[in-house]
Parts: sequence; C-alpha cells; structure tokens
Amino acid sequence: MKKILLIEDDPFLVDIYNTKLKESGFSIEVATDGEKGLRELSEKKFDLLLLDIVLPQIDGWEILEKIKALSANIEYLKNLQIVILSNLGQKEEVEKGIKMGAIKYLIKAHYTPSEVVTEIEQLLK
Ligand SMILES: [Mg+2]
Repeated sequence: MKKILLIEDDPFLVDIYNTKLKESGFSIEVATDGEKGLRELSEKKFDLLLLDIVLPQIDGWEILEKIKALSANIEYLKNLQIVILSNLGQKEEVEKGIKMGAIKYLIKAHYTPSEVVTEIEQLLK
C-alpha cells in the first residue's frame, strides 16, 4: 500500500483528503503544521507528500528546503514525490515550487478534491 503524508492546516481539507485518499486505497497520515510534518517525514517513510504552502510556523517553502537538507542523511527522501496543493497561484510561486523539488503544483481553486486524487493516482501508479 502506498503511503501518503498530507501536510495541511485546513481541517475541512484534511477531512476531505483523508477520506478520499483512503477510499482510493492509500495509507495516509496527516500533519497539521510544518513541524509535525517534518517529524513524520524523518521518522517514517512515504511515497508521496501532499504539501500545503501557507502553514503556521514552518511554511511549505521552508519544508521543501528542509527536505532537501534532510535527504543527505535520509535516503528515501531523494525519491519522495512531492505535490504542492496551494492557494498561491502566481506564476513565480508555481515555478519556485517546481524548482524546489515538487513534481506537481496544483492550485486549490483549479482542482476539485477528486481531480487531485486522480493526479496522485497517476503519480503512484
Ligand atoms: Mg494552509
């Protein structure tokens, strides 16, 4: 079973994705802030990270930087597929996300949760 970590602080979205991703046969863990997310990433192993950018304390950009730093010691992080799911939709932000290691940058307003799950299924096929 493929393992997904969701780092998201919006309880409504956490609820939706938790349900939908489980229904699609994935194992999912949730972290509601960046610090918890980084702890999960270094203590467990995931196939894919679904990452929000605007988060309390440690934001998504900082998480991407830390993942890069941590991957020097934690081998699996080099192959972790990172999908950003954010309200931030400026061209520069999308480019920055991809440059910082995300394989996909999905803008929340442009994707229904079902479409996001479809994207994830494609990546983890
Ligand atoms: Mg947020």
